Amino acid sequence: RANAEKFEFQAEVSRLMDIIINSLYSNKDIFLRELISNASDALDKIRFLALTDKEVLGEGDDAKLEIQIKLDKENKILSIRDRGIGMTKEDLVKNLGTIAKSGTSAIAITNYLIIYTAFVEKMQTSGDLNLIGQFGVGFYSVYLVADYVEVISKHNDDKQYVWESKADGAFAISEDQWNEPLGRGTEIRLHLRDEAQEYLDEYKLKELVKKYSEFINFPIHLWASKEVDEEVPVDEDEPSEDEEFIVHMNSISCSSLTIKYTLMRTAESKSPEEEDEEDSEDDKKAKTKTVKKTTYEWELLNDVKAVWLRNPKEVTDEEYTKFYHSLAKDFGDEKPMSWSHFNAEGDVEFKAVLYVPPKAPQDLYESYYNSNKSNLKLYVRRVFISDEFDELLPKYLSFLKGIVDSDTLPLNVSREMLQQHSSLKTIKKKLIRKALDMIRKLAEEDPDESNDKDKKDIEESSDSNEKKGQYAKFWNEFGKSIKLGIIEDATNRNRLAKLLRFETSKSDGKLTSLDQYISRMKSGQKDIFYITGSSKEQLEKSPFLERLTKKNFEVIFFTDPVDEYLMQYLMDYEDRKFQNVSKEGLKIGKDSKDKELKESFKDLTKWWKGTLAGENIDDVKISNRLADSPCVVVTSKYGWSANMERIMQSQTL
Ligand code: ADP
Ligand code: MG
Repeated sequence: RANAEKFEFQAEVSRLMDIIINSLYSNKDIFLRELISNASDALDKIRFLALTDKEVLGEGDDAKLEIQIKLDKENKILSIRDRGIGMTKEDLVKNLGTIAKSGTSAIAITNYLIIYTAFVEKMQTSGDLNLIGQFGVGFYSVYLVADYVEVISKHNDDKQYVWESKADGAFAISEDQWNEPLGRGTEIRLHLRDEAQEYLDEYKLKELVKKYSEFINFPIHLWASKEVDEEVPVDEDEPSEDEEFIVHMNSISCSSLTIKYTLMRTAESKSPEEEDEEDSEDDKKAKTKTVKKTTYEWELLNDVKAVWLRNPKEVTDEEYTKFYHSLAKDFGDEKPMSWSHFNAEGDVEFKAVLYVPPKAPQDLYESYYNSNKSNLKLYVRRVFISDEFDELLPKYLSFLKGIVDSDTLPLNVSREMLQQHSSLKTIKKKLIRKALDMIRKLAEEDPDESNDKDKKDIEESSDSNEKKGQYAKFWNEFGKSIKLGIIEDATNRNRLAKLLRFETSKSDGKLTSLDQYISRMKSGQKDIFYITGSSKEQLEKSPFLERLTKKNFEVIFFTDPVDEYLMQYLMDYEDRKFQNVSKEGLKIGKDSKDKELKESFKDLTKWWKGTLAGENIDDVKISNRLADSPCVVVTSKYGWSANMERIMQSQTL
């Protein structure tokens, strides 16, 4: 094109496109899901802008927030058009040429590039492109089925442009002089590869749109053919359809048919008098016959009732699972671990669906401290507002996915104003409660978690097999989040502490809870004993445990570096204090010989204290914590434990 400006794809994009274009991945259908999802995002954006400025929508068809799909069999083009926000020339260059993510810190971008590179590598080795949408590069999946793609786009702030590329490392952008004006929005034209002609089949498209757009909240129309019965006037001189067929047949092949045809015509024809009679009967009505005719019209393919607006009793498990997949852009076969769909009433009204994903994302804790990303989508009265609203859930629950739709929040204010709205506090509070309830239930329903006495009842329930071990799985993926919650959320500390799991000196490699620990405490034991260290093996050999083990006390093993911080916040649980057994102040019940021993070793302790005086020693004491070792170094009650020293040292290195 004469006025085209040429650009090169960012190297990371180019590499991805090479992989896609050469991919043997069998599920090429996914391109449609990605395009529909982009169209829906673009529609969400314009609808959001229209909240504060109605003008942006324009008039007539432009104001219809919809998606349209057309098939052009002759030219082998599949096109998808939306009346969304559209793209300016600058947007086209940036969005369809680089993987730049907007408004993020340098650290986040670097982290993103690392994860992205790992993803591309994995995609290349596994050949599985299913997760492409999660990495903000779903658009390029069009090259699974097309070898040439045009993107025609019109944004309110710019002229209409055509972006085009044959996936050869470059793309071009031209001011559009060829196509009908779009008004506003984007049309993606896929020039289908020879082996992808199946996407010109209406039935195939209908089936795919149904499959991939179940949860799209905008109408999707297909320019579909329709057979209609049409009454056409009968022309007596013209042969009818069957006759025509025979005539046609005989003219090219067999002459005997001609005779037969002529005979038939003769036999059927009526005498002139008869014909006159018939004509007089309905002389005003022209003679007609019914013929099948093909016409085209926009056919609506989806039902736009949002899942969260439905009655939870009427939504099936399968629908919840599919909804999760579309929310999370995760189209594996894995079911979410759990979900909670509820309707909050009262001063602040909202509907919400929360999910515990089947797995933690790779970067969950890497990006924990420099990202505020919550994974909840916020809607206000059915209008999508944002999926980057960090006021909805605390950071430690950012692993949850879901949606919140509130009728109480105002619609026509800026995102910033909304962020400060007083109702958000109430919403957040309720969401946390519901989330923690959902996690607690995961544990309660897990037969592995119950105490022996009620095990039997649960085992008899039908779905107990499926639920077996689910909490251990949850703990493995998201346990750290619960610990971070205990540190950060004082209000819910006790609720979160209930969800804690750990191993102990007696748990035999299994996970146990504080409630279970307390139920096994020896009579006379006041405190909850724990010890911190780098591994269970190391802790089992610790001299600090000698006496406790001998006396049959159970000690909790905390082996995750975050546990040290955790225990600075978790002072007590259900009126029991926590006692680090490697610290000063351990009381294992009274011993009658205590006083006597203290007295007889008085001189030794004094001598020892004097000898070590220069060595950062606080005190030398007779203790009853050891059984076999002669002595042990203990940290003071308020100082760092030896394990904490170790962690701090490794962090400053
Ligand atoms: P993602 O949707 O995750 O951002 P994509 O690769 O699917 O990643 O799309 C890249 C970007 O291109 C989008 O973020 C959006 O800015 C832009 N885009 C794609 N399709 C459209 C469209 N139909 N209308 C407007 N913008 C679009
Ligand atoms: Mg996308």
